[in-house]
Amino acid sequence: MSVTPVKPVLVGENDEVIRPSREQALEAVRTLLAWAGDNPDRPGLIDTPKRVVDAYGEWFDGYDADAAKELSRTFEDVQGYDDMVLLRDIEVESHCEHHMAPFLGKAYVAYIPNEKVVGISKLARVVEIYSRRLQTQEVLTNQIADAIESNLQPQGVAILIDAEHQCMTTRGVHHRHVSTITTRFTGVFKTDAALKDRFLKLAKG
Ligand SMILES: [Zn+2]
Repeated sequence: MSVTPVKPVLVGENDEVIRPSREQALEAVRTLLAWAGDNPDRPGLIDTPKRVVDAYGEWFDGYDADAAKELSRTFEDVQGYDDMVLLRDIEVESHCEHHMAPFLGKAYVAYIPNEKVVGISKLARVVEIYSRRLQTQEVLTNQIADAIESNLQPQGVAILIDAEHQCMTTRGVHHRHVSTITTRFTGVFKTDAALKDRFLKLAKG
């Protein structure tokens, strides 16, 4: 039986992403199953493409969300509060852009407000939005910092992400329990070593 090549156009003339149909996405998963050496038509795998495509919808729903919108509602009545706001242990569930393999860990997000603050759940939401896209941990760290920086114009932002990459633990070098730490400091966190130190101590206990 001959196989009709399915090669949808995915990128338009202006570099815009043209989303394939669900049917084309299902077909792509069937192709990967056969590539792995299995029969995509056997009963155990017949509904797998549907499950994988649905899971992708969840893992990558950050592309349809806007961090700036989440941070747009701010509160100015902070009654003089001008110290660090720190969120610890925010779950990070992301996928590396090199292997599309999960990397899992925690994020620590702090900022020092400049007259306006944002609802703290929105900071966790920003971590979630960028996590649910493909990138590297370094880029993820920067994206979170930049979103807070540009939308809140705080005195400073500090981000720390501590994560394990399954592309490193389950393939390639197979190093278990190696965690990767990335940080980004802006504003006063960058210039004030004692403040940076306080963030790191508070974040990691
Ligand atoms: Zn990777």
